[in-house]
Amino acid sequence: MRIVLVGPPGAGKGTQAALLAERLAVPHISTGDLFRANISQGTPLGKQVRSILDEGGLVPDEITVAMAADRMAQPDAEDGFLLDGFPRNIGQAKALDGLLAEGGHKIDAVLDLEVPEEEVVRRIAGRRTCRKDSSHTFHLEYRKPRVEGVCDVCGGELYQREDDREETVRKRLAIYHAETEPIIDYYREQGLVSTIPALAPVPEVTRRALEALP
Ligand code: ADP
Ligand code: ADP
Repeated sequence: MRIVLVGPPGAGKGTQAALLAERLAVPHISTGDLFRANISQGTPLGKQVRSILDEGGLVPDEITVAMAADRMAQPDAEDGFLLDGFPRNIGQAKALDGLLAEGGHKIDAVLDLEVPEEEVVRRIAGRRTCRKDSSHTFHLEYRKPRVEGVCDVCGGELYQREDDREETVRKRLAIYHAETEPIIDYYREQGLVSTIPALAPVPEVTRRALEALP
């Protein structure tokens, strides 16, 4: 199954994607995690995008689509995947449709995680991310690591992402409303969208998401 997760920054996409990917046995593909891995490894792509991520802007479509296409072409993604943070605007959504059509495929479902803005701000303010693997995320109140400052999964150091600071979060939310929200209507016209009320404990949101899948 080919699934797209949408929702504002801090809605819980990464958290749910990791759990759903395991349940559905498909890879979790997060463009944000891929960019951060490139940044921490110091690759040319990482050097190119670092300041854009830190400032909360969007990486140009050409770069993002090429990176996502590369990841989706890997053998583990042949039968399906869960996209988290991609596509993020109409241009990327159309590019994705084009890429999938080449292989005779299409998106099967879009899960829209709905969380009130005040809660999103709380979730981001308390988010702590693993330096070794940014898909490992915790929260100062809602999802405390067993040992303070240390990732439960891999022992990496937990830190606050530069773009999770308050000023940058506002900019990211504005970009979400202006650029990303329109893709929900784009997919709605194709009958693909399920809205998941996501102001609930993590396992409950996972249950709702699984129930909404075709
Ligand atoms: P969050 O999970 O908090 O919404 P992400 O990890 O998805 O954040 O994204 C972090 C940053 O990576 C974005 O602010 C943007 O700079 C960049 N990014 C991630 N995905 C995309 C994309 N599809 N298009 C452009 N930029 C992206
Ligand atoms: P996104 O990928 O959409 O930016 P994350 O999955 O990283 O969001 O979640 C943002 C923060 O909120 C993290 O610190 C995470 O631990 C926490 N979180 C995720 N889902 C929930 C939930 N259902 N209830 C409370 N906190 C949550």
